[in-house]
Amino acid sequence: METDVFSGDDLPLALPECAGREWARRAIGLLQGDARRSADTHLIKPVFPGLGNISVYLKDESTHPTGSLKHRLARSLVLYGICNGYIREGTTLVEASSGSTAVSEAYFARILHLPFIAVMPRSTSAQKIEAIERFGGRCHFVERSAEVYQAAQQIAAETGGHYLDQFTYAERATDWRGNNNIAESIFAQMENEPQPEPEWVVMSAGTGGTSATIGRYIRYRNLSTRLCVVDVENSVFYDSYVKGDPAMTCTAGSRIEGIGRPRVEPSFMPTVIDHMIRVPDVASLAAMHVLSDRIFRRVGGSTGTNFFGLCRIAAQMLREGREGSLVTLICDSGARYTDTYYNPDWLKDNGFELGPHIDRLNAFLDTGRTLTSSAG
Ligand SMILES: *Cc1c(COP(=O)(O)O)cnc(C)c1O
Repeated sequence: METDVFSGDDLPLALPECAGREWARRAIGLLQGDARRSADTHLIKPVFPGLGNISVYLKDESTHPTGSLKHRLARSLVLYGICNGYIREGTTLVEASSGSTAVSEAYFARILHLPFIAVMPRSTSAQKIEAIERFGGRCHFVERSAEVYQAAQQIAAETGGHYLDQFTYAERATDWRGNNNIAESIFAQMENEPQPEPEWVVMSAGTGGTSATIGRYIRYRNLSTRLCVVDVENSVFYDSYVKGDPAMTCTAGSRIEGIGRPRVEPSFMPTVIDHMIRVPDVASLAAMHVLSDRIFRRVGGSTGTNFFGLCRIAAQMLREGREGSLVTLICDSGARYTDTYYNPDWLKDNGFELGPHIDRLNAFLDTGRTLTSSAG
């Protein structure tokens, strides 16, 4: 039987309105405003006399309004949630975090007038907890870092909220081809340098999202740069990479805040990584102190891990008579760790004897004399 689609008999009385889109429109405008008010972060070039023709670049992510590289991620995750229709007017945002991501998300939740709950290990630094609460967020603590995922999921279910889930969505919420991601920014800032195409980019992994973005971008742009991911003690990324086993887990939590995980996070992309190095925690903290002294301001623990990994690669390059540029990140500032990594009593209580490691690293940076540390 022929039907006349225009007869009107079986048409609804009215087509649906685009419900709730007005709020989303305003929310996107507010997020774009934050982006527009932000400048790009510096790529600083400290000089280390011992490294000869190996130049070192540090992408300083500590200068974002919320103090870490997680500012980029938080903005992307919130945008992703709004554009997918998961985040609406009044939606409670929930996150599992070791602190930095929660600080940045609390900031964006406040801009959008949304409630925010951070689920974190009890060991999270006091400065981060204070920042989250200042931005109007609430903190929920668990005893062990492996418990954050389930607790966050449960709180999201109970509140009818949205679990942002950085560990799953970091790699896909970031536009890896560009759109002002960190990789695009680094390589654009390198363009007019004497050695514009870095030999290596060195980065630690928390979600794994930043290394995924950098690794994909290197391939997308046909660069010969290689990506080295550095891992810490009490984390499964390194072992899982070496053994090719994504199901590995461990129980003890990482002592370097922001990096090292008890499970292989879904955002960790081993296929774009060229090399991994495991850095002992004592070496990370020694490198953090050495770098802080040399650039006249304090950096966080994960930046120490990054810098130590970069020095290991520089040492190998010197041995092989190579030159070129190396890039790594300043992930956050040391201001967040005055009670811990920069507190001599805390270091002593936690069994960290940094002196010999600091001396060895300083000697290397001044003379190029090879590190003979116990790094594995
Ligand atoms: C998250 C984080 C990292 C690691 O970045 P990912 O993109 O999550 O792998 C490094 N350092 C600090 C301080 C962080 O908060």
